[in-house]
Amino acid sequence: MKLKIIPKLIANLFKKPITVRFPKQSFDIPDGYRGKHSFSPNKCLGCGACARICPNKAIEMVDIKQKDGSIKKQPKINLSKCCFCGLCENVCPTKAIHLTKKIPFTGDTSPDIIK
Ligand code: SF4
Ligand code: SF4
Repeated sequence: MKLKIIPKLIANLFKKPITVRFPKQSFDIPDGYRGKHSFSPNKCLGCGACARICPNKAIEMVDIKQKDGSIKKQPKINLSKCCFCGLCENVCPTKAIHLTKKIPFTGDTSPDIIK
């Protein structure tokens, strides 16, 4: 019984590994993958729809001082709470939030906060 596995083991020695040395190497990420958010402050209306729809309460609306001194509400996204459902992207009327193909949790830093 155990001997049956030996030809397979030998064959596998000559095959390419199915794993990659991430993050230096990566697979092709398919279209529609929901990874790290990109945020365009210029497109944001400050409506707060993204924060209201977020099921994990990962988005907080915060005051951001603008160049002209005025204050504008903008979302602050805590990726450690996010489940990457994409609802914030779907609800945003101006497409200011977009989930990219970037895989967020790599490296030795704590999860990002996007604002
Ligand atoms: S992807 Fe989902 S969980 Fe993550 S911030 Fe957007 S709405 Fe919240
Ligand atoms: S990112 Fe979109 S949904 Fe969120 S506050 Fe800005 S305009 Fe509204």
